[in-house]
Amino acid sequence: LGLLTEWAAERYGTLPALRYRRDGAWTTLSYTGLRDAARRLGRALIALGVRPGDRVAILAETRPEWTCAHFGAFAAGAVVVPVYPTAGDDEVAWVLDDSGAAVVLCEDAAQTAKVERLRGKGRLPGVRQVVPLTEPGGGPAASDEALLESARGRAAADPATIIYTSGTTGLPKGCLLTHGNLLAVQRATVPVVDGGPGDSTYLYLPLAHLLAQLIEFTTLLQGGELTFFGGRVEDVVAELAEARPTHLPSVPRLFEKVRSVVLSLAEAQQGGRGRFEEAVRIGVLAAEGRLPPELRDAYEEADKALYSLVRQALGGRVRRALTGGAPIAPDTIDFLRACGVPVFEGYGMTESAGVLTLNVPGAVRYGTVGRPVDGAEIRIAEDGEVLARGPMVFPGYHNDPEATRAALDDDGWLHTGDLGKLDEDGYLTITGRKKDLIITSAGKNLTPSLSELAVQNSRFVSRAVMVGDHRPHPVALITLDTEEVTGWAAREGVTLTEPLSRDPRVRALVQEAVDAANATVSRPARLRAFAVLDEDFTVE
Ligand code: ATP
Ligand code: MG
Repeated sequence: LGLLTEWAAERYGTLPALRYRRDGAWTTLSYTGLRDAARRLGRALIALGVRPGDRVAILAETRPEWTCAHFGAFAAGAVVVPVYPTAGDDEVAWVLDDSGAAVVLCEDAAQTAKVERLRGKGRLPGVRQVVPLTEPGGGPAASDEALLESARGRAAADPATIIYTSGTTGLPKGCLLTHGNLLAVQRATVPVVDGGPGDSTYLYLPLAHLLAQLIEFTTLLQGGELTFFGGRVEDVVAELAEARPTHLPSVPRLFEKVRSVVLSLAEAQQGGRGRFEEAVRIGVLAAEGRLPPELRDAYEEADKALYSLVRQALGGRVRRALTGGAPIAPDTIDFLRACGVPVFEGYGMTESAGVLTLNVPGAVRYGTVGRPVDGAEIRIAEDGEVLARGPMVFPGYHNDPEATRAALDDDGWLHTGDLGKLDEDGYLTITGRKKDLIITSAGKNLTPSLSELAVQNSRFVSRAVMVGDHRPHPVALITLDTEEVTGWAAREGVTLTEPLSRDPRVRALVQEAVDAANATVSRPARLRAFAVLDEDFTVE
């Protein structure tokens, strides 16, 4: 990866590599500009004493500076440690200490202050230097060309990055990934993504997360343009229309957001949800080439009213939507397909360098996460756990042999912690997470993710979490999408009482979502009781 920007600059030269907004206007950095920035930072890091294998942390918002820092650190042969810009003091201290980061690249004053504060308290004994990141293409200049030459060519087995996982299972664990792991995923995904010069990939996810980094590598390997999302999360749909990407890789939440924005629009313009659902049904039939002649007119009408609205909302150029990282509701996929946006779902985790399975063009099976990508093997253990093996599977957690032994068995199988099944053609379906399994008082085991998804499918719900057993039905904690709820009330002319969680109209909307969910799941997973959360009423 230390050579990626060199290689790409030779091929794509003056083509735009990064596109981003500065002071309100779109601007770009070319492939040669990116290579020069990486070289400059690489030299500067070497001048600071960084040697191949040393850890360099990046603490920055998702901006082009991040990408320059990424390849600058790789050019110096460093192992990159991404830190979430929103991480609090304790998490930052844990990640920097545990990884043994020698240098921290900080993007702005707030991040620098955070690190300096910790150093002031003597909490970061290993950190030698905090380096501010300047404008993309800028940066400190210095020394040794020969060292740079030798540093940037790493071997496949050399560590490339340590990425700390969210820690839903304890303290964040550092996933060590090699250059070979990351390149194995690129080898498998680049042909599927099928982008090139002139294409634009929308980067909406934080670069501190592996998925966003995969998107970064893929786009730059193909000579496309990486377009940085630069607005507020609430405005993402408006932003998309302007950014006009050809490739839209993201987590399900973005696609749900698009669906709910368009649903509100359609509701306001064409009076009602029934017609929307009918339009989606017809669109899916058409996408599958099964549209009966008597529905042709209805299809054309829906195209004018809905599908074109969606294509417009996405900027009119999206050729590929790629989703993964969490389960996506079938309705969200249908919605996109109906509107002519092909969706490819994949599955993986940080421990597998991001991708294990993928649906590929021409062989998509909706509802599954696709088949193992090149080199990956998938097997289902007796208890239903998904096991995986292949060149993308990590060598282990940094500094944590015990966790490594729990994740990787003697034969090299990664125990993913997910539950799933394989069909006769090798397509994988993820049914839940092992640790989320709920054992009801009736002795039934159930995985909550299907019910949660079904409830979340309501645009008035932003999250639903099944928490367990309520004689004998599980309970759901439901977080409202307060923006959608208040928007709906304004359109309907309804006055809601505070807190929203107690308002009878709001409870009726949620009840509707729960009923709809219960209609789609089998008996033991049905929800009977729920608690509605909002900004005033939350459970810590
Ligand atoms: P931690 O390991 O710290 O608990 P995490 O597992 O959420 O965190 P990631 O590695 O980012 O961290 O997420 C990988 C997980 O995301 C997978 O193990 C799986 O549970 C889930 N996942 C990924 N893709 C899909 C998908 N397409 N459908 C369903 N779940 C998915
Ligand atoms: Mg995990």
